Amino acid sequence: MNELWAGVRSELEARVGTHNFATWIAPLDLRAIEGGSADIACPTRFLSDWVSRHYARPILDALSNQGAEVERLNFTIATGARPAPAASAAPAPAPEQPAARVPARGIMGDDEMSAPLDSRFTFDNFIVGKPNELAHAAARRVAEGGPVTFNPLFLYGGVGLGKTHLMHAIARERQARDPEARVLYLSAEQFMYRFVRALRERTVMNFKELFRTVDLLMVDDVQFIAGKDSTQEEFFHTFNALVDQGKQIVISADRAPGEIKDMEERIRSRLSCGLIVDLHPTDYELRLSILQSKTELFRATYPGLTLCDGVLEFLAHRITSNVRVLEGALQRLFAFASLTGHDIDLDMTQESLADILRASDRKVSVEEIQRKVAEHYNIRLSDLVGPKRVRTLARPRQIAMYLAKQMTSRSLPEIGRRFGGRDHTTIMHGVRKIEELRREDRSMAEDIDLLRRALEM
Ligand code: ADP
Ligand code: MG
Repeated sequence: MNELWAGVRSELEARVGTHNFATWIAPLDLRAIEGGSADIACPTRFLSDWVSRHYARPILDALSNQGAEVERLNFTIATGARPAPAASAAPAPAPEQPAARVPARGIMGDDEMSAPLDSRFTFDNFIVGKPNELAHAAARRVAEGGPVTFNPLFLYGGVGLGKTHLMHAIARERQARDPEARVLYLSAEQFMYRFVRALRERTVMNFKELFRTVDLLMVDDVQFIAGKDSTQEEFFHTFNALVDQGKQIVISADRAPGEIKDMEERIRSRLSCGLIVDLHPTDYELRLSILQSKTELFRATYPGLTLCDGVLEFLAHRITSNVRVLEGALQRLFAFASLTGHDIDLDMTQESLADILRASDRKVSVEEIQRKVAEHYNIRLSDLVGPKRVRTLARPRQIAMYLAKQMTSRSLPEIGRRFGGRDHTTIMHGVRKIEELRREDRSMAEDIDLLRRALEM
């Protein structure tokens, strides 16, 4: 049987090309031939569907050329059907694509299909707080499968707030609940890369078919394809085809669909059709819970270290940028402590994290915001906070209110006091007004982003 299969394999390799061979044929194993039917073990349902649709004829031909009398192929799903081909047996692959690997379960092999999932990014490891509550609930809902209630789920938020974590968790959970489901997770960049490769290799039909046969498609950091016209176009068609078939799509981006520059209008509006959920910047409680949970993990890696009271609270208070930075800080503390044998106390924390703490120190004040906005619109600071209601002053004033709410931790009454003693409802009205205008008016949105960036510097 082995010899026969070896012959079939080398014939197929010559016929379908080394790349297709590595991806589709190498993972298969011939188990038996009985009554004109060849039993072929295959690691995933997806692979077997694909192979039976696209490679049945070549396989049957090759079997018959090798002297086997076979009329039918019968695929069985067996984990570990065949070890991945040795790297040396395959032609030198492009650096982005290691030799075909088919993972144990139904999540698609990462060459052609799903990007690898980080095993730490599970729902269990995701700490839920007010800022990410809704995103988490929506992600859970999608992971459960069942009828699609909102399509797409669009997750957006700043860097390091857990978008990728949630998407991996969805993929994992969905696959665990339904091993047959075809789950495809990849970044928009990988989507583009594969599309471009398909164009180059003239395999666009395969590309299209692959993307149109998934049950759950997740594309991370979709802002990346803005301005990349043919990729956008292809993405749009893939998206529509899946939505039409009632398949779930999950998208992430660093900003709301309406705010992605150079994204075609029809794509933007399509992306806005489902549920749009914002991951808000973390608050103190969430940061503290995350630190507590990560500490548990680190304790396992670095047993015997002492973490003094107040350190986690200090970190949660001082490092407000994003969860990735928070994790990095904790990691460094534990590493330092294990090297030096020191307890992790406040002194050692301040010393070893001096750079991170300094970088996070950068806090914007309401006064700075007001000054910047007045300068930008060429009006006097006294007019910005003063009582005049002409629009040329009122609009910049509302923008300053909006930025103050967004960029500082001041409450509405506190902000009101800094705007000439205005009532908190006036501030709220101003903030809402700008939120509204921002969505409708692109140049307004750009102006605000510009101001925000200038203030963050
Ligand atoms: P994004 O994709 O939004 O930039 P990631 O999902 O890559 O962010 O998250 C950055 C890091 O922070 C990851 O290590 C992730 O596990 C961690 N992280 C983010 N949010 C949470 C959370 N709520 N609970 C636990 N870990 C989190
Ligand atoms: Mg990410």
